[in-house]
Amino acid sequence: MDQRSVFLSLVQGENTARPMVAAITSPLSEELLDMCDLTWSSVHNSREHMVKAALAAKSLVGFETVRIPFDQCVEAEALGIELDFEGNYPKPKRFIERIEEFNFMGRGRTMMVLDVVRDLRQAIGPDFPILGGVTGPFTILNYLLGPAKTMFLSRRNPSLIKDYADRLSSSIANYAGEMVSAGADAIVIEDMASSPDVLNPMFFRTVEVEPLKKLTTMLKAPCILHICGDTLKILRDIPETGVKVFHVDPKTNLRIVKDLIRGVTLAGGVSTFLLLEGDEKSIVEASLSCLNLGIRIVAPACALHPKTPLENVKTMIKAVKNSAYAVGNTFWNNTW
Ligand SMILES: [Zn+2]
Repeated sequence: MDQRSVFLSLVQGENTARPMVAAITSPLSEELLDMCDLTWSSVHNSREHMVKAALAAKSLVGFETVRIPFDQCVEAEALGIELDFEGNYPKPKRFIERIEEFNFMGRGRTMMVLDVVRDLRQAIGPDFPILGGVTGPFTILNYLLGPAKTMFLSRRNPSLIKDYADRLSSSIANYAGEMVSAGADAIVIEDMASSPDVLNPMFFRTVEVEPLKKLTTMLKAPCILHICGDTLKILRDIPETGVKVFHVDPKTNLRIVKDLIRGVTLAGGVSTFLLLEGDEKSIVEASLSCLNLGIRIVAPACALHPKTPLENVKTMIKAVKNSAYAVGNTFWNNTW
């Protein structure tokens, strides 16, 4: 079974011979960029460099998926937000007062990202999974209006925020659909502003579940939802969004996640802090623990810290690949 077929069967919750180890969020680190002679700014802005960095995460590190783009500001930028590319990842220079335009397709870096998907498909062939990344509607609102105003409006005028999120969902679905046509196998929706660490879980239910459901319904491809932090309080709402996979952070109690989120494949599980600072033994233990707790697509829980040693990431990957066959059989006992 090729990697793409294994990935797609895991996404669909089918029992399969082995789990995988994937890049769901950004797999970049300073060490990787240095090895490829790339800069942080260029991997976000150059078609050729974005392709090169994505392929390096596969060939030099060993991830079993490629994932692009690496930042979460493509949509906001395409809607008129000027970005600061000085650090590792771009961030908005300033926010806007009101949103008048919701359709961002064809603007900013969107067409470049589609070209990157096509280039990647051509470079790796048909048998390897490509993940296209988009930003969740509520998180895009945070990048457009700023976190303080988005939070204020969520409390004062939730129907307005929901309407905004709803309109953004259509644009995201349109853009993500183009990624799928270009060769992406699944869409990662990064929605960190929806984390209960920063947003009252009640608002996730009232302003974000339906827009996410609209997005997944419009798309003809499986969606992976990434929300970092302790997501325990919103886990029961996640199946309703229609995503096939939830990318979970170990700040959430992994021992009970599987029971609260039935019908959705689990991904993630390995702390980025552990990958930054942990020793070999603790990284192997954490990776194997993910498998035993029902995480079928093991991955760093969020974007890698830029200083993460590649050796630590390789340790995680090796632990999953080496144990895959034996652990894979335990999935047959699970009900999905
Ligand atoms: Zn995250």
